[in-house]
Amino acid sequence: TLFRSVIGEESETSEPVSEPAPVEYEYEIDIAPYLKYICPDDADEYALLVNYDHRLTGEYIPGDLKETDWTRKDRDKIKLRENCVMALDAFLKEAALNGVTDVSVTSGYRSYSYQKWLFAYYVEQHQSKFATREECEEYVMTFSCREGCSEHQTGLALDMHNLPAADEAFADTASYAWLSANAHRFGFILRFPKGKEDITGISYEPWHYRFVGREAATIIYENNLTLEEYVEIYYPSSADWN
Ligand code: ZN
Repeated sequence: TLFRSVIGEESETSEPVSEPAPVEYEYEIDIAPYLKYICPDDADEYALLVNYDHRLTGEYIPGDLKETDWTRKDRDKIKLRENCVMALDAFLKEAALNGVTDVSVTSGYRSYSYQKWLFAYYVEQHQSKFATREECEEYVMTFSCREGCSEHQTGLALDMHNLPAADEAFADTASYAWLSANAHRFGFILRFPKGKEDITGISYEPWHYRFVGREAATIIYENNLTLEEYVEIYYPSSADWN
């Protein structure tokens, strides 16, 4: 029983408070070896918010990057933080048991310098459509982040889909339907959902998942929140971050 302290006129007393019913999770795979990764003790660390207003410096390099075997076969093994790698392994093994066998990871940890290169690359690709570089950069910012603003630098974000290249059409697949409905059970959220573009600043990305841990993921999923909204509620002092 959970007790809430009640400050009385003269003395402190306690009265029982009913605990919220715990969410029941069921898995087809043996989840036991994965639970410590899916439900990390240091949950705060996995709620790290990175966006245009909350930037990482070039010095931010996670110390526990590991390769994922779910990397698409045509590229070098992608790295993610250990908890994210393990949670993803559980997620995609469970997905396979549910008929989702065609999804692989196409992007994970990206360094500050790579993100900088990537942004410049996209600007170059689209420059001909715009009169000025500023206009082009503003356009590119709707789908790619500047260095320091991409949560791919955290090692907790990944792109996965079953198309030659990431595309919104992935949202129409059966694989996406299963993944998006079950991600929270493994600690993941769809980071850039449809209809929340004004909050995330990024267009809908049905392929981009972010590891935040199961508890946070469940709250975010069940309340249709973004990480921005979640952090504002649970970590209000983060508004001061830069
Ligand atoms: Zn991504």
